Amino acid sequence: MPEFLRATPEEMNAILENAAVGILFTSDRGIRLCNARAAEIFGFSSPDELVGQTALVVYPDRESFERLGREAAAKLDAGLPFDADWQMRKRDGSTLWCHLHGKAVAGPGRGTVWIVDDITASRGARLQLQATTSEMAGIMDNAPVGIVFTHDRRITRYNARFAEMFGFTADSGIGQPARVLLRSDEEYEELGRRAAPLLSTGRPYQCEMFARRQDGSDFWTSMIAYVQNTADPTQATIWIVEDRTEFKRAEELLRRANAELAAARDRAEVANRAKSDFLARMSHELRTPLNGILGYAQILDLDASLSERQRMGVKVIGQAGHHLLTLIDDILDLSRIEAGRLDLAPQPVDLRAFLRVVADIVRVRADQKGLLFELVFPSWLPRTVLADERRLRQVLLNLLGNAIKFTEHGSVRLEISLLASDAERAHVGIAVEDSGVGIAPEHLQRIFEPFEQAGQASHRAQGSGLGLAISRSLAHMMGGDISVTSRPGQGSRFSLDVWLPVVDAPGTVQAAPRRIRGYHGPRRRVLVVDDVINNRALMVDYLLPLGFEVHQAADGVQGLDRARAVAPDLIVMDNTMPVLDGLEATRRLRAGDDTRHVPIVCVSASATQASRQRSLEAGASAFLSKPVDLRELADEIGRLLGLDWIYEPAATP
Ligand code: ADP
Repeated sequence: MPEFLRATPEEMNAILENAAVGILFTSDRGIRLCNARAAEIFGFSSPDELVGQTALVVYPDRESFERLGREAAAKLDAGLPFDADWQMRKRDGSTLWCHLHGKAVAGPGRGTVWIVDDITASRGARLQLQATTSEMAGIMDNAPVGIVFTHDRRITRYNARFAEMFGFTADSGIGQPARVLLRSDEEYEELGRRAAPLLSTGRPYQCEMFARRQDGSDFWTSMIAYVQNTADPTQATIWIVEDRTEFKRAEELLRRANAELAAARDRAEVANRAKSDFLARMSHELRTPLNGILGYAQILDLDASLSERQRMGVKVIGQAGHHLLTLIDDILDLSRIEAGRLDLAPQPVDLRAFLRVVADIVRVRADQKGLLFELVFPSWLPRTVLADERRLRQVLLNLLGNAIKFTEHGSVRLEISLLASDAERAHVGIAVEDSGVGIAPEHLQRIFEPFEQAGQASHRAQGSGLGLAISRSLAHMMGGDISVTSRPGQGSRFSLDVWLPVVDAPGTVQAAPRRIRGYHGPRRRVLVVDDVINNRALMVDYLLPLGFEVHQAADGVQGLDRARAVAPDLIVMDNTMPVLDGLEATRRLRAGDDTRHVPIVCVSASATQASRQRSLEAGASAFLSKPVDLRELADEIGRLLGLDWIYEPAATP
């Protein structure tokens, strides 16, 4: 018999009443005895209220009561203690969880002693913990990363992914030194050294490094280590390990691809530069002979003594030469556009005057083909706009030139409309419509590609297939675009739209060229300095009939001498010459007292902006590129000498 049963009834009472657990004695399913704590647990104010009642009162329902009875009987009848967490009931009907410890008492007062503890609160916490633990286990098992716990440099736990990554079975890694996870002792020690400072302050340590599988192979990983409680040395270090093999491979591929791309880009740039250089050189080389061809075509065209057949021949030479020149210019333009080196130079332009000049040029060609040409524009067009006149004319002439080229009967129409405008800009629509051969639907988009031509071979021969590609790029640069609609056999309509800033200043426009016959006033003296005899002869042949006195020199030195000797009113100077080049000769003329003020027109086969700039810096009054458009030369001479030209009556381009 336990010791305390030998105590006096008073002592027994004191023990029972002061116990922190509920104590009940039951027999025959009734409560025979209980202490204050038991009454309190079940919500009774004193043991008296419980004693004498059936034990059923502390169970939620009969079923629960019966079940406990059955489960307990199995143990108690065998003389064993019974332990269970059981849901019980308070007096007010609410439920609570209790830990029940029952023990049968043998002997005359046969019954059971119950020790009851209210575990409602701790059970909640425990359930919570259980849930968290099972959630954790769920996360661990399903995580796509390896998770391993190490303690004292040994592996204590890991998840499925980790096992798979490192080649362990479910528990073959447990207890192994963490060192086996890396390639060498050195790397392991090094990792420890680097991780320690962060881990000891509670921060995670992260790195990428090679890890080792059980079969000895290695693989690239990213690792994060973390110690949950730095104050407690028994705490495990948690490692989260990610297999980065694929990532590393992708990274390597990307790096290599980038390197290849860079190399390809470099190669392309070199090739592109070579292409641009080649084109610039080629155009220079082609312009020089064209100078002679076009020059003499122009001069002979002025010769009244030619027979009709000869005149036709000269015309063909002139047209073929012009075609070649257009080709060269187009190719140069295209390569400049492709290299992003073509810049617009907007100036104030009188829009209506500009359109009339374009129309004048086109009308002549339309007349020659017996086509009707119409120019239509609204009266409320802005007066002056900022535009690169040369480029805008290039686009219009290209569209109109095509319209005339591809139309045999009917008309070509140039129609301007104002699509939108505000105080600063005008959105101008320009439509070129013809009644020509039209374009098949399948060719409509292709014709804007460089070198794309559609339609008959005879027409193709007259073009390069570059015009529309260049025109569209120029339209883009002017903030607009070109589109086309067409019906084969009926005609085409090309619509260009551009955004043009509106300005208040008066605009200018280059007049349509008219054929010159001579000039009013005293005879003027022109000195032509060029090492190529043909070029000189060309100038002489052109300028003499216009009434100029023409002198010649074959290089810069001779040029300086002649300039002093004949005191010319104007000098035409070739830039590239032996002995003394044109630029240097120009500089010296500008430095000489007698020659300082003589206007000098520099001529170069290089059509670039840079060579224009160089000439002007050397002191040139004007710059022309070869092949020299003789009309342009006359314009410059007239401007520089203030000449009053005598024109032929008919206006032709
Ligand atoms: P090119 O006229 O020098 O051949 P373009 O780029 O200016 O080059 O034109 C490309 C092609 O578009 C032409 O060859 C022609 O087939 C077609 N095309 C352009 N304008 C017209 C038009 N008004 N009517 C019919 N076809 C045209």
